[in-house]
Amino acid sequence: MTAPGRPWFHVRPVAPGAWLVAEPSHVNSWLVAGRDRAVLVDTGLGIEPIRPVAEATSGLPVEAVNTHHHFDHAGGNAEFDAVAVHERGVGLLAAGAPPSERAAYLAHTRALLAAAGSYRALDQRFFHLLTDDADPRPLPPAFDAEAWVRSGPPAGPTPRALHDGDVIDLGGRTLTVLHTPGHSPDSLCLFDDRDGLLLGGDTLNSGPIYAQGPESDLEDFARSTARLAGLARDVSLVCMGHFGRGVAEPRYLADVAEAFERLVSGDRSVEFRVQRDCDDVEVREAVFGQLSILVGADPPAADPVR
Ligand SMILES: [Zn+2]
Ligand SMILES: [Zn+2]
Repeated sequence: MTAPGRPWFHVRPVAPGAWLVAEPSHVNSWLVAGRDRAVLVDTGLGIEPIRPVAEATSGLPVEAVNTHHHFDHAGGNAEFDAVAVHERGVGLLAAGAPPSERAAYLAHTRALLAAAGSYRALDQRFFHLLTDDADPRPLPPAFDAEAWVRSGPPAGPTPRALHDGDVIDLGGRTLTVLHTPGHSPDSLCLFDDRDGLLLGGDTLNSGPIYAQGPESDLEDFARSTARLAGLARDVSLVCMGHFGRGVAEPRYLADVAEAFERLVSGDRSVEFRVQRDCDDVEVREAVFGQLSILVGADPPAADPVR
């Protein structure tokens, strides 16, 4: 059993007026507050209400921004009065995710929870990596899995369309929109001018970066991550969309960009292994020192398989 009694969300500050709002081992949402308002970057899985958590934490009115339209980043959208997404995500968000995708994710969650007990024991004995950011919670007792699987596109306000270069003013602090396609055509990152946070969504992740989806584009991913690496000097902290290592040092941006560059250039020294993604689809995982990248079952470039 996982430890009882802990809330579904784990909230902790990462910088002045900025918090990780984690669904540990699932999605990392990020709350950034200015003087007048706060923005919640991604609204999570929709397994528990996230708006009350964001408002209680920031003490301010909170608007939502989705880093992209995927259901695990927009699950709480209906709770908010104002939601924004990149212009290419407006239609995708309205279309929603098929129940089969949510069902696959729920099966993945149950498999993860079943494995967590033995993982926790090994971690306590040997590895010491499992923090509150990462330690998965049991599904809440009131969670209606059937209804969640069948739920359609997020209701709520029509999203405002964001564009590259748009600036979201929080009062004494701004978030600048960077359109970073690759994971999906509508993926965006946000750069916080005041404290140098880079909020990466699924463009920057700490475990496998998902580049295997039908809407993913490796060349776009390489261009977008190279652009982010170029900003590293102004970044204090990289904030990522999934998994237990929610934050990384700015140097990580160069690691990610270099990994994508090696993939798209067909570097034959890249190592691959067979992996299954969270939809239980067999994919190939390109393995690098600090990260890995999931790609389709077919080689992505000029057959880099050894
Ligand atoms: Zn995604
Ligand atoms: Zn995601």
